[in-house]
Amino acid sequence: MLEKLKEATIHKTEAEVLAYIADVFSGQAVFTTSFGVEDQVITDMICRYNIPIQIVAIDTGRLFEETYKVQDAVRKKYKKDIKVYAPDTKDLEALLAQKGPYSFYESIENRKECCYIRKVAPLNRALSGKACWVTGIRSEQSAGRSGMEKIQYDESYKMYKVNPLYDWQMADVMHYLETNEVPYNSLHHKGYVSIGCAPCTRAVKPGEDFRAGRWWWENNTGKECGLHESRKK
Ligand code: SF4
Repeated sequence: MLEKLKEATIHKTEAEVLAYIADVFSGQAVFTTSFGVEDQVITDMICRYNIPIQIVAIDTGRLFEETYKVQDAVRKKYKKDIKVYAPDTKDLEALLAQKGPYSFYESIENRKECCYIRKVAPLNRALSGKACWVTGIRSEQSAGRSGMEKIQYDESYKMYKVNPLYDWQMADVMHYLETNEVPYNSLHHKGYVSIGCAPCTRAVKPGEDFRAGRWWWENNTGKECGLHESRKK
């Protein structure tokens, strides 16, 4: 199946890949957006060509105000429902009661616990019952992501994963957004290239790794929250 998907999409445009995936995985394809620039390209393609792929977002409760503004702009421009998944109330209340609102600064374990409750668990619910997961991952975003593929099988989630913009450069992304007048996060003009939760994201300097601004206080190179790694805590 994987080889067949790769072969069938090799000469297709990104929008054609999305349409093909929507057809092959009818009703079982889902696109997760964090409203980053890459995700905005895919959202635009899905809406512009009315491709039947469900768009979902994870609201961790700690996102930037600017990110919520993009979400609102998307709703108004495309008039398409975006299904939003939020953290489990009980888990979140327990975390906040036991460890407070900034536990993630104290240790990597705490940070991963927060990411699990606020991001990974809601994502698991969003992907449940689906067969294909569309993302805005690009190869140059990090060393870990350069080992992925445009179309792959995700063993962790037991589903196909499609990254239509995998080979795109940042300039391609910005060109698409400007040409098609797609709304995007104003933080991108302030040095934020990978935008997650507000307390855990900062701007990066020119030449720094794309994900250097995420969990900058951690002295490691992983820089993933678990969404594209494993569904386990
Ligand atoms: S990025 Fe930070 S605030 Fe957001 S879920 Fe992870 S640890 Fe929690």
